[in-house]
Amino acid sequence: MYDRLKTLYELQKIDEQLDELEALRGDLPNAVRELEAKINSLKEDIESKEKEQKESLKKREENEEEIEKLKESQKRFKAQLYQVRNNKEYDALTKEIDHTEENIKRLEEENDSLADSSKRLSEEIEEIKPVLDEMKDDLKTKQADLKEIIKANEKEEVKLKTLRKSVEATVKKPDYSSYMRIRKAKNGIAVATIKRSACSGCHNIVPSQRQLEIRRNNRLFYCEYCGRILVSVEITETVDAE
Ligand SMILES: [Zn+2]
Repeated sequence: MYDRLKTLYELQKIDEQLDELEALRGDLPNAVRELEAKINSLKEDIESKEKEQKESLKKREENEEEIEKLKESQKRFKAQLYQVRNNKEYDALTKEIDHTEENIKRLEEENDSLADSSKRLSEEIEEIKPVLDEMKDDLKTKQADLKEIIKANEKEEVKLKTLRKSVEATVKKPDYSSYMRIRKAKNGIAVATIKRSACSGCHNIVPSQRQLEIRRNNRLFYCEYCGRILVSVEITETVDAE
């Protein structure tokens, strides 16, 4: 039992040191992640605008072809006007001419408005690009800073992580999961001890009877206020001295 309690405190100590290394990185990992997400969304933005432009261009080309065809027919109809033999034919032909004229006009208007939106899209893309470039520069700087910090502590981190693995392997599974659960809920500190008759985690007084029981190192106790695992000073001092 003594070892069971001791390994939990050892795990706590290692995790605290790992947390300290993590803290050295400050907000950088977060900032990098956020920047990456923003950059991706801007890139997607530009891509979708460019896709829209491509489609617009394709549509305009199709319309141009259609307009050309209509203009050809128009020429033919107009030529035929000189050959009509009666009013009925004349009316039918002028109707055809008017109709074709309308279609040409409609397609030309559509192309104008497509060209307008495409131009607007170009302007929007041009506005996004410098913002994107600035973010990319910012990301590069932050990534480099982060890399430097990580590199400076790499050896210690590897050492701690290896140590953690070997300690973790000796912790009982249920102990480990409650340790991790408390650690997550209690700001990283899952194991506390008794300091001046109080839980070192929450500073609430631990009843003297319970303090005595904890000193026996033969049971797993939880602080009745904060829920942290409580180990004796004997254990913490032993581990701290190692
Ligand atoms: Zn407590």
